[in-house]
Amino acid sequence: MEYLVHRPGVKAGAPSSPPALETGGSHPELAGVWDMNAGVENLPEILDTLNAAQSRVRFAEVLAAVPPGLVSQAKSVRQWSRTIGKGLGAATGAPPAENVWAHDFLPQAQLVAQDLGLDFVVGLTGSMVAFVEHGAKHWNYFTWSDGRSVSVISCYQVREFAREAGRTFEAAVGHLIVAEILAQRNPDIVYHPEDRGCLFDFTGVRQNLVLGLRKMIVEPACLRTLAEPWRPVGNAWMKALREYEGETGG
Ligand SMILES: [Zn+2]
Repeated sequence: MEYLVHRPGVKAGAPSSPPALETGGSHPELAGVWDMNAGVENLPEILDTLNAAQSRVRFAEVLAAVPPGLVSQAKSVRQWSRTIGKGLGAATGAPPAENVWAHDFLPQAQLVAQDLGLDFVVGLTGSMVAFVEHGAKHWNYFTWSDGRSVSVISCYQVREFAREAGRTFEAAVGHLIVAEILAQRNPDIVYHPEDRGCLFDFTGVRQNLVLGLRKMIVEPACLRTLAEPWRPVGNAWMKALREYEGETGG
């Protein structure tokens, strides 16, 4: 496993090549996965697995100081939810719990990306994810992205959902990671509101992540919305994730 260590104010020996274009680029794009407080013990193993499956994206683990505001932000989101009179979880049935603001993560992630020469930054948090989109507030989400290069992924409850689906925790985290990478580079992708056991289920009901983790596939209709070069990548990732747990999958 490749580790990239971020030291504030120190630029790493960033690759001299420019970031790949969305549909081109013969060199792999570099995706840094930054476990801020999710505690994914076997993260290097699952990133190695995803790397071995294809050559379009190269994953490395980012080691960086955790943004000091993460926990206090979570408290502030909880406070905000009380202020507006809706307990967190009211919309989804999840228990009241902490969320982090994706928007506070974004500038931190952009700094790390710039310093380390990353094409993607994927932050892993043990909290759920809250954000504002089109003026509306959302919370209790598994993921958020800026639509370009930065994603934050919630590992909250994911360990339980993985167990229920018969998967390992790190495979489930890998599942969430590859969905974000594919969505960032394929603007036609839609997280569909029906949860059918597809990588691109919206999972408005958090428990429904179990369906996706059981099957671990990109269903054919969704695969066709990927740009052609990404289709074998998507399939290879899903196959690798299924087989990571000793299953042949299908
Ligand atoms: Zn689908």
